[in-house]
Amino acid sequence: DCERGKKFDIALLSVQWAPGVCASESKRCTVQYGNEFIIHGMWPNYIDNRYPQNCCFEPFLHKDNLDLITNELRRYWKSLYDNDSWGFWIHEWKKHGTCAKFSALKGQFNYFNTTLNLFKQMPIPNWLTAAGIKPSNTGIALEAVREAIRRGFHGRPQLACTHSSSGLPVLSEIRFCFNPESLAHVNCPAETNSCKSKTGKVLLLSA
Ligand code: 5GP
Ligand code: 5GP
Repeated sequence: DCERGKKFDIALLSVQWAPGVCASESKRCTVQYGNEFIIHGMWPNYIDNRYPQNCCFEPFLHKDNLDLITNELRRYWKSLYDNDSWGFWIHEWKKHGTCAKFSALKGQFNYFNTTLNLFKQMPIPNWLTAAGIKPSNTGIALEAVREAIRRGFHGRPQLACTHSSSGLPVLSEIRFCFNPESLAHVNCPAETNSCKSKTGKVLLLSA
């Protein structure tokens, strides 16, 4: 079963903060990681936060199509759960890539290569450093993180958190929005806020 996949409004680049993901998925995180942002996926989205998935366009991912960029994918789009990221790429292609069949993201090579190139142009750690934000085990203001990212990227991001026993939400992902045709940076729609806490603070954990 697959969807036809209409033209979408936003290409949403989801980036994982490895220590945040692995704080709640400690049993699943079997690979080495440090204080690093890595790609989770590039997701077609409609403006109302709905999204197409599992579209009919070339659902079977062919290894050959990624030969030229496999080394870069292993570095920037690695699975935290599996030493061989291939299964993760298959999943992301099948669920999201098949629906991203327009402009610069159309097709298997373009989908992965365009996403890599967009990601490599984003010095996220520098944006945080410029705002005086560094990973630690004490809470920082959610809105300070959002503002630091917004300034660097020139567009409002979505922030996503997981929850740990310590109480404060743990920042696990930052999601960036692009115009799917021009790839211009745009504001994301408001997120369903998994990062909300009474104090307005979140953890940007250190590895
Ligand atoms: P979570 O519930 O962890 O935020 O998301 C679970 C999965 O749902 C994600 O891995 C992704 O495949 C999909 N998903 C979550 N939020 C979005 C979104 O805003 N847009 C799209 N296209 N997919 C999403
Ligand atoms: P999504 O949230 O995109 O629907 O699904 C992510 C899927 O990819 C899950 O089934 C998850 O088990 C698998 N996966 C493999 N490696 C990773 C990883 O490093 N991060 C995340 N979020 N999911 C991964």
